[in-house]
Amino acid sequence: MNIIRAKALMIALKNMGVEQYIGAQKDGPTLEGLKRVVMACMRCPLAQTRKTVVFGEGNANADIVFIGEAPGEEEDNQGRPFVGRAGKLLDQLIERIGVKRNDVFICNVLKCRPPGNRDPEPDEIACCKDYLLAQLAIIRPRAICTLGRHAYNTLLGVDAAITRIRGKMTTFQGIPLLPTYHPSYLLRSQGKIKEAREDMETLRQFVK
Ligand code: SF4
Repeated sequence: MNIIRAKALMIALKNMGVEQYIGAQKDGPTLEGLKRVVMACMRCPLAQTRKTVVFGEGNANADIVFIGEAPGEEEDNQGRPFVGRAGKLLDQLIERIGVKRNDVFICNVLKCRPPGNRDPEPDEIACCKDYLLAQLAIIRPRAICTLGRHAYNTLLGVDAAITRIRGKMTTFQGIPLLPTYHPSYLLRSQGKIKEAREDMETLRQFVK
């Protein structure tokens, strides 16, 4: 890990109380080390209602990281992000980039399910966001694809509607970021799938 990347990671971990633990590991900060911390997290009230923590999964050296908002019921049951119908649709979209699900990394802003699949609360995002930042600092992907408005707004610190931002490339900490629709929304709005497919074509350039 180069100095800039390690510095970004330590900034991301600041105030989490885990930076010394992660940084002290023999081989440097790793996703596995971070996962051990997150799996035991009790920082917000969602720890009381979740079944499992959904850390995220995929390639630790991924070119692209996909970020949704929070686990749903099936994700909470299985401990995996984007399973079920929305997950299948995401898999199909990923394949349009020319890679497979295992080649990318998939996670959410919140690692625990909000009851009833309600929207994440700002204080929950504030508690959990550092874990996402740490994931990005460790993986340091070539591109980020946010799914739906919450992931985009969390990273960029804005409050934008997805219809206004979708498909407009921007950057987060120097990493190209492309916002697209959340697969759950696409299941309800099939007419938008064409635009999401176009976004996957845009992401092709970031795959080695
Ligand atoms: S949502 Fe995030 S901050 Fe809240 S308990 Fe789960 S891992 Fe911890």
